[in-house]
Amino acid sequence: MLLSWVYQPLWTITASVAEQFGVHDLDTGECNTGFMTRSVRDIECWLTDMDGVLVHEERPVPGAVELLNRWVDTSRRFLVLTNNSIYTPRDLSARLALSGLNVPEENLWTSALATAAFLAGQPGEKTAFVIGEAGLTTALHEAGFVMTETDPAYVVMGETRNYSFEALTKAIRLINSGARFIVTNPDTTGPSPSGPLPATGAVAAMVTSATNRQPYVVGKPNPMMFRSAMNRIEAHSETTAMIGDRMDTDIVAGMEAGLLTALVLSGVTTEEEIETFPYRPSLVFNSVADLVPLI
Ligand SMILES: [Mg+2]
Repeated sequence: MLLSWVYQPLWTITASVAEQFGVHDLDTGECNTGFMTRSVRDIECWLTDMDGVLVHEERPVPGAVELLNRWVDTSRRFLVLTNNSIYTPRDLSARLALSGLNVPEENLWTSALATAAFLAGQPGEKTAFVIGEAGLTTALHEAGFVMTETDPAYVVMGETRNYSFEALTKAIRLINSGARFIVTNPDTTGPSPSGPLPATGAVAAMVTSATNRQPYVVGKPNPMMFRSAMNRIEAHSETTAMIGDRMDTDIVAGMEAGLLTALVLSGVTTEEEIETFPYRPSLVFNSVADLVPLI
């Protein structure tokens, strides 16, 4: 029975079973990734997206509390990932607690932390001109960086609600003088109760337009975000899974990082949209509530 699942083309499995259950195989979560056969039971480490997977407009998604408790109870290594670079892990942990989710700060991985980890590993001077909030400046300080406006090695741009013309002018001039242009995440808009807000990617595009220089962008869908997260918890790609609600960021980056990928339909991507992408998630669930019994 199991073998017949495993050797079917992936999409056949997803479509037929998702239709019935919202998951490939309700008992095992077994699937064929195209490279090797892995099941949820082989997974030792978990990465998960935050918005649309665990929380939705500050309310917990069904199963999120149970999933986090299961990981803690079974001593699984896990990280909750977000492209948002505004908050420090401590701030984020407190915000999630208000939504009823217990995520210790050491289990949070932001694009700001990923950016700091990436830059810490680059050769050369550890100096940067930073446009961003505490999430980014704290991460860079902790990675040994000095913030300066005088001949910095990098201009690092992250999410902020207070972009100043003066700071952007400075950034543009420093990049023109040779500073390396780094951006925490590519998102061009972010959600707010009153409608979309311009986000890091949109402001970075303005700097690109003014300098004719493309930035290096660390956050999802760059698999760099996952690689640094996996280094942090000493995870290996063969035994790590990524849960996300977006095919175009979470799933593609998880796939490129060699992970088992689980798409949940509780966020952005709908079941009908899966077919429009040239790649597939390893597993599909209605929400993380369907994943909990498999762990
Ligand atoms: Mg999401």
